[in-house]
Amino acid sequence: MATCSVGNGEDETLGKMKRERTRRSYENGNATRRQILKIGAGAALALPLTVPRPAKAQNEDFDVIVIGAGISGLAAARRLNELGFSVVVLEATSQVGGRIRTDWSLGAPFEVGAGWIHRPDGNPISRLAADIGAPTAVTPDESFQVFAKDGQAIPASVIEAKYFDLERLYTRIDTTFDKDQPLSDAIRRVSKGSLQDPVLRWMMSAYTEFSTGAPVEKLSAYYFDEDDEYDGADVVLPGGYDQIPKSLADGLDIRRNTLVESIEYEEGNGAAVHTSKATFESSFVICTVPLGVLKKRIITFDPPLPKAHQKSIDEIGFGSVTKLALKFERAFWPEGTQYFGYMSEPKGRWNYFVNYRTISPENILLGVSVGDYPFVAEKMSDADMIADCMSALRAMFGQNTPEPIGHLATRWSEDPHTLGAYSYTAVGNTPADFDRFATPVANTILFAGEHTTFDFHGTVHGAYLSGLAAADRVQRALAK
Ligand SMILES: Cc1cc2nc3c(=O)[nH]c(=O)nc-3n(C[C@H](O)[C@H](O)[C@H](O)COP(=O)(O)OP(=O)(O)OC[C@H]3O[C@@H](n4cnc5c(N)ncnc54)[C@H](O)[C@@H]3O)c2cc1C
Repeated sequence: MATCSVGNGEDETLGKMKRERTRRSYENGNATRRQILKIGAGAALALPLTVPRPAKAQNEDFDVIVIGAGISGLAAARRLNELGFSVVVLEATSQVGGRIRTDWSLGAPFEVGAGWIHRPDGNPISRLAADIGAPTAVTPDESFQVFAKDGQAIPASVIEAKYFDLERLYTRIDTTFDKDQPLSDAIRRVSKGSLQDPVLRWMMSAYTEFSTGAPVEKLSAYYFDEDDEYDGADVVLPGGYDQIPKSLADGLDIRRNTLVESIEYEEGNGAAVHTSKATFESSFVICTVPLGVLKKRIITFDPPLPKAHQKSIDEIGFGSVTKLALKFERAFWPEGTQYFGYMSEPKGRWNYFVNYRTISPENILLGVSVGDYPFVAEKMSDADMIADCMSALRAMFGQNTPEPIGHLATRWSEDPHTLGAYSYTAVGNTPADFDRFATPVANTILFAGEHTTFDFHGTVHGAYLSGLAAADRVQRALAK
């Protein structure tokens, strides 16, 4: 397989020299806390044989430990590896890619996590796709059919006109208030009936709640749409999104099924990362676990993280999005239409469907639940989730709509290594809450991942760029 390179043009030998220099500085200097820890472990092993040996393997030492083999962790590890530093990636699951995962069991690429390269022109993920020769296909936003709650088809001209109303509404919110509040409250204040207007209500959910990953009741009216984007029409990867992380992972030292439990660190002395299997030591740790994992304090930090970092972890929003792919014997929908919308109640419930026939011969409709509804849907059994989604499809396409012959469902809020889909700006958050993660903790621990960049949070490219930025900061520090 062709591999992506994240290299920044630096000479590889230079990196190796830097690494040698770093190593020498450990050897010549006073024993670090990590070295003391190691001597302690050695002393324990020298005790009489009656003392049980520690169950865990001997400590391993690296320049950099990267926690998490999602796109941000892989980007960081690859760049540092290309520069000649010794890097290990510790990944809790058996797979690489994290929230990029492709399941082919229905015969077509079901993207369990990220599906699109959003705004591909200038997007670094487009370059990675081009590097490995992975074709992309546009999913045209203008190809849609929206249905009212009772199944009546709404003319495209009505949807288009209402879209401009929604844009105007959001612009008014931007210029009206000097205090943050839930987006839903701000909408009510500037345009009383808009939340009850069925078309606007559907758009607020299918567009805003889907792209931000959160209900309008929890989004910051100030910042919910202040993030950045590139240009161009969204594209998918018909050969599977997971080609990108798999290619980045090629040749890296990745320890799978290795759950990080705690991190001990000390300014100037590096860190000891304790996992379910062994302890790893390094000068720097790049921690890329999802915000949901940090919020739940699944990893213990010793000493505890600074208050500012903990504030970001506690206060930035983390929502969910549920996908349900339904495969049918035959396509009972217009095969050339890319998207179907449904004005469901509650508003986030199976309100958007992607037609797979445009990119695959398989008769698959992919339903999406957003806003608050994923926390309801993801608690359902598969059978109940399918019945719930089929009631939406039957309202749209008639009561004779057949049962599916196959399905795949996601439950990101229940996944113990993610605990949600992506981060959002909750009421009271500011861009600084995201960007603060860029400040290293004790010159040892750096954070990367989609939640550590305001401009591109919640995206693959944001996560990727954050990984590269963390690697560059480590490289500069190691080169000193
Ligand atoms: C349903 C859904 C749809 C999306 N759609 C899009 C889209 O269309 N376009 C787009 O650009 N973005 C989309 N995104 C967002 C995008 O997938 C993410 O922003 C990006 O993949 C996150 O990458 P990351 O490296 O920050 O985190 P992750 O990919 O989550 O990587 C973190 C890794 O850390 C591992 N880990 C967790 N805990 C531990 C531990 N204790 N020890 C060791 N390892 C651990 C995890 O297993 C995981 O592999 C979507 C996300 C979801 C969930």
